[in-house]
Amino acid sequence: MKFQAEYRDLVAAKKLQRAIGEIVTQPWTIMEVCGGQTHTIVRYGIDELLPDEVELVHGPGCPVCVTPLELIDKAIEIASCDDVIFCSFGDMLRVPGSRHDLFEIKASGGDVRIVYSPLDCLKVAEQNPDRTVVFFAVGFETTAPANAMAVWQAKKRRIDNFAVLVSHVLVPPAMESILSSPNHRVQGFLGAGHVCSVMGYEDYEPLATRYQVPIVVTGFEPVDLLEGIYRCVRMLEQGKIGVDNQYARAVKREGSRVAQGLIKEVFEVTDRKWRGIGTIPHSGFRLRSEYERFDAEQRFAVGDVQVRESSKCISGMVLQGIHKPHECPAFGKECTPEHPLGATMVSSEGACAAYYNYGRLLESHQPSCSSTLAGKPAIVPLPTD
Ligand code: SF4
Repeated sequence: MKFQAEYRDLVAAKKLQRAIGEIVTQPWTIMEVCGGQTHTIVRYGIDELLPDEVELVHGPGCPVCVTPLELIDKAIEIASCDDVIFCSFGDMLRVPGSRHDLFEIKASGGDVRIVYSPLDCLKVAEQNPDRTVVFFAVGFETTAPANAMAVWQAKKRRIDNFAVLVSHVLVPPAMESILSSPNHRVQGFLGAGHVCSVMGYEDYEPLATRYQVPIVVTGFEPVDLLEGIYRCVRMLEQGKIGVDNQYARAVKREGSRVAQGLIKEVFEVTDRKWRGIGTIPHSGFRLRSEYERFDAEQRFAVGDVQVRESSKCISGMVLQGIHKPHECPAFGKECTPEHPLGATMVSSEGACAAYYNYGRLLESHQPSCSSTLAGKPAIVPLPTD
């Protein structure tokens, strides 16, 4: 298939693997920001194909994982109301709150529905005028345009029984937060390609200059990632800082001005709390005052909630690249996808789920390039019990 087969091509991948080996002269630590990239890396064993000098650490780019526990608990409270139809993307339903998850609310009779687009919720709202339809609007800059469109349409079409529970987060402030931590080990970044397809990468340029790091905007297929790593290692070896764009087929420097205009119409930047990390200044969106009547938090007056995190879960460290999932004592024991202690084990973009699903419990795994890049998972997944 065009635009897929060439990015899973074994010959191209081997060439890049060799090229990385030829230019690297010293240890480098590179963070891939996006959870989708983490899954490709782990699935195809890309990190294990690299020379020993190049270490990949996983970043905070999983929207389900970083949605704060308070918001999950508020979602559960709202979804428990009799006159509410609560809509969400599927991953969110299994994320553990302090006491329950949204699946339990659904199982006990709550009207919790999985949707594939926030615009679907508007139809549900029109079909159910005597109930309030609430959409759990989580995500990075990538999902913000569709969520903004849903709110904008609701206002225009006077669909007043629609509201959104907003937990939008932004990537550049999270990268800045990591770089300003005294513990960080990150020397270069692979930027999240789909976020940049919306927002462009102009905001990354001052970040690269301020913290003296290379950032390579990168796609999601194995060859994309190997090329992004190659470009990042080359910049590190040459002492270059700045932003390079590996994902030029989808990303322009200025991004999509149309999508950005829609986001600006509906949302404004605010401080946001990230699960396991804490509050990061200017790292999220909230509804502008002209749209606040669609704000589910205000409409349902879900004030302060008392949250209870698992004391065993170290997902905050995993999301900041400080620890890898299999270094968590609970990984694969108390914590599995069926019985998760943290969101990183549930989400389809979570690093713990990637390590679990692609068998990183197996110490002896030593993939070869040919076994990992022929379109198959690197490792036989562990049985899920
Ligand atoms: S393995 Fe489970 S408990 Fe450990 S960090 Fe990941 S989600 Fe948290």
